[in-house]
Amino acid sequence: MRPEDAHQGPALVPGTPRRVAVVGAGMIGLATAWFLQEAGVAVTVYERDDVGAGASWGNAGWLTPALAAPLPEPAVLRYGLRAVASPSSPVYLPLRFDRALLRFLTGFATNSTSRRWRAGLAAYVPLNQRSLEAFDTLAAGGVLAPTHPARPFLACFRRERQAAALVAELEAIRGAGQDVDFHPVTGGRARAMEPALTDGVGAAVRIAGQRYLHPPEYVRALALGVRARGGAVVSGTGVADLHHDLGGVTVVTSTGERPRYDAVVLATGAELGRLAGRFGVRQPVQAGRGYSFSVPIEQMPRGPMYFPAQRVACTPLGSRLRVAGMMEFRRPDDPLDPRRIAAIVDAVRPLLTGADLDDRRNEWVGSRPCTPDGLPLIGGTTSPRVYVAGGHGMWGIALGPITGQLLAQTVLKGEAPPELAPFDPLR
Ligand SMILES: Cc1cc2nc3c(=O)[nH]c(=O)nc-3n(C[C@H](O)[C@H](O)[C@H](O)COP(=O)(O)OP(=O)(O)OC[C@H]3O[C@@H](n4cnc5c(N)ncnc54)[C@H](O)[C@@H]3O)c2cc1C
Repeated sequence: MRPEDAHQGPALVPGTPRRVAVVGAGMIGLATAWFLQEAGVAVTVYERDDVGAGASWGNAGWLTPALAAPLPEPAVLRYGLRAVASPSSPVYLPLRFDRALLRFLTGFATNSTSRRWRAGLAAYVPLNQRSLEAFDTLAAGGVLAPTHPARPFLACFRRERQAAALVAELEAIRGAGQDVDFHPVTGGRARAMEPALTDGVGAAVRIAGQRYLHPPEYVRALALGVRARGGAVVSGTGVADLHHDLGGVTVVTSTGERPRYDAVVLATGAELGRLAGRFGVRQPVQAGRGYSFSVPIEQMPRGPMYFPAQRVACTPLGSRLRVAGMMEFRRPDDPLDPRRIAAIVDAVRPLLTGADLDDRRNEWVGSRPCTPDGLPLIGGTTSPRVYVAGGHGMWGIALGPITGQLLAQTVLKGEAPPELAPFDPLR
């Protein structure tokens, strides 16, 4: 660590930044750039690959604040421990542990208690409550890709008793003060709403008031929005290093340039630790890799379908159905493992009718940025000029715009709003 990085505790307010660099053109980086522009800040977004090259591309696109909650909890831990032993399990851990993964898993296990889950849930509620409104702000500001009301959003189970765990979770979310409107329905009723479900579905829970979007279209539209308002989105240019001093931050790019900014926001997804660690961020960010592909289906579902026991998400995306799932704790740049795709196909085949699961396109793997306590990292660092936004795990699309809105306020005022306190990156 260099001397200027050494001080601990809250960063000092450097004055209102006018020129800000954002590193990473995923949902979080682009939303942050857009909301900084709302306040007149000149933004440059650096992306080492292309817009949406990370997790923001192949995800399920659900805007489901009713489900957004911390990942570590007792049932997930129990399930995960059982599941890793089975080759077709929706959770996969490589046998060759690395030190960083071990640290993440130890932290994850420590946080998997009911008490911590409820505390995390209480932290999510203020963001969840405003998450859809933040999408409406983007739409009103000219971001052209639509969000669709999920009519219906159905969580589907083979047997009625399996729905109890989700119902208990939704009741806990409601108990934490969030408006959640849900109704258990029979398998027959679920099939009447979504004829693509087979009679293997014996029960479902219908959740009202949720939405979904087309992830690639949405991130592209957001990048266009940032450019249309005068921002630069520079693809193919990674950020290799940052140097801050009293007057600003120098960004060292992979192309050898060294531009200066008043502040920098790191939004590099599963790679967050690489640059943020130098600025006091100690929480590890681990890639929780998920897979997706799209298939044709005779009768397109009217809304997303969730199979919690199989950990599979289905979303209507244009003329094809996107099928997504799996949680694989491996390095972000490891190659796509076809066995994981096969496991998803086997899991949903008995539950979907009319879908040609063998006519797959766009097979994809991407990394959810996961933290051991299941809370994102949003706010300042030990440098008064370096901020981080990431670690949203399963919920970075739904919470992207509200994250960008609140982080932009933090950058402008040099102080985080109270609802971001639980997400302090220096915790
Ligand atoms: C299968 C699956 C399904 C999911 N479904 C949903 C869902 O339905 N709803 C939901 O809310 N969330 C969902 N998620 C989670 C969601 O996709 C992520 O939380 C979210 O996309 C994270 O966004 P991000 O911007 O933080 O990261 P990313 O989208 O990964 O963006 C980070 C970007 O930073 C770039 N980058 C990295 N390092 C550098 C560098 N040094 N210099 C420049 N650029 C760099 C990367 O190339 C990348 O483009 C899902 C995830 C998966 C895998």
